[in-house]
Amino acid sequence: MDKQLLLNAAERANTYLEALNDRKVAPSAKALKDLETLRIRMPEVGIPSAQVLEELDHYGSPATMASAGGRYFGLVIGGALPATVAAQFMAAAWDQNAGMRHASPLGAAIEEIALGWMVDILGFPSSTDGGLVSGATMAKLCGLAAARNELLSRAGWDVEARGLFGAPELEVVVGAEVHVSLLKALAMLGLGRERVLRVEADEQGRMLTSKLPPLGPLSILCLQAGNVNTGAFDPAPELCALARQAQAWTHVDGAFGLWARATPNKRDLATGFEQADSWSLDAHKWLNVPYDCGAVLCREPKHLHNAMTAMAPYLLSDTPREPSHSTPEMSRRARGVEVWAALRNLGRRGVAELIESSCAHAKRFACGLEEAGYKVLNDVHLNQVLVSFGSDERTQRTIDNTVSEGVCWCGGTVWRGRKAMRISVSSWATTERDVELSLASILRSAERAIEPEPNGSPAE
Ligand SMILES: *Cc1c(COP(=O)(O)O)cnc(C)c1O
Repeated sequence: MDKQLLLNAAERANTYLEALNDRKVAPSAKALKDLETLRIRMPEVGIPSAQVLEELDHYGSPATMASAGGRYFGLVIGGALPATVAAQFMAAAWDQNAGMRHASPLGAAIEEIALGWMVDILGFPSSTDGGLVSGATMAKLCGLAAARNELLSRAGWDVEARGLFGAPELEVVVGAEVHVSLLKALAMLGLGRERVLRVEADEQGRMLTSKLPPLGPLSILCLQAGNVNTGAFDPAPELCALARQAQAWTHVDGAFGLWARATPNKRDLATGFEQADSWSLDAHKWLNVPYDCGAVLCREPKHLHNAMTAMAPYLLSDTPREPSHSTPEMSRRARGVEVWAALRNLGRRGVAELIESSCAHAKRFACGLEEAGYKVLNDVHLNQVLVSFGSDERTQRTIDNTVSEGVCWCGGTVWRGRKAMRISVSSWATTERDVELSLASILRSAERAIEPEPNGSPAE
């Protein structure tokens, strides 16, 4: 191995990160144009490693979205803690196949430890185990596959062997504000994107318990812990109890929201979800590990194993725990390394502080926007802020102005028929100063978004 090469990579990565707060968050048009230089014919002859790195840095770095910095508030992205970036460097050098214990005892062990800590910090039943996958969408696919397997198996049907043809019909119940990724997972599982019962939600996007249809032993109830727009939580204590009585399966989509359970000051928001049968969440969002990493967790790990194993369930021995028995892949990277590094680095207290500081920053955004006279559309209890700047057109112009000013990056959404800017605070790197700079930029952008009257005087 070329020592200079790796040191060079570390040096370049460090230079990149140091400059992150002094550049526009979105890449410039020039940077994107320059990136096209890389689009050459498949080269006949290679170039030395150092030159590969040089090209990547020269054309790649400026063309990145500065989402690793402190002023990216788009989607629900999160940054990457320094300890996790360094750990990923190590993991790349190790190049372990973590899918199979015999291929990487280290990969299996570190995933086991990381998942155990996750279950602990999230306060799930001690029987809980699962797997690390590429993200919450994949985790949903796994959780729902476990549900499909177990409910049909109780009805005398082996879905892995016989498929869904002629199987008893499962009924999937979702909230009106279900995340599209859950529908995608249902589509991939043959359960149908449109064959769902949608339960009416309140103005924050929470499922209304009174509108829940009767559930039965073939029902899969999908709850949300953290609506992607409002950050609101479905009323889990009542809903989980009803599902239990009906012997239905409850799956929780908690991509970012379940992390509220990791801090005493926010735990009440996400209480009751521990009653569910399976959970999907991300580590690459609020836990701030590098892409990509999510987790599926299952109260009874054997339900997940039955759905994921490549072998007949009766051949399974799960001691010692076999990583590929909990996820779709055979071969995969050792995602446990970065989750382990994040939790080892932060400890229980550090995770709580990360969650709380994000929520405090979101509160500050909401207060500043309201003080300036703009309408915050959601109850800001968590890390998500939805704001309207008047008409949909003015809101869109405010978003466009904000992005082009480049101090921060916020995207748009539609909430209950109204265009909104969505601000998601999910990064360890965001400071109070970042929030003040960003708020000032958003307010400037909103001012500039006022429609000019034909005679030149500004009006809404
Ligand atoms: C981000 C998000 C997803 C999708 O997660 P990926 O990690 O991108 O697959 C699903 N549900 C919710 C609520 C989310 O916030």
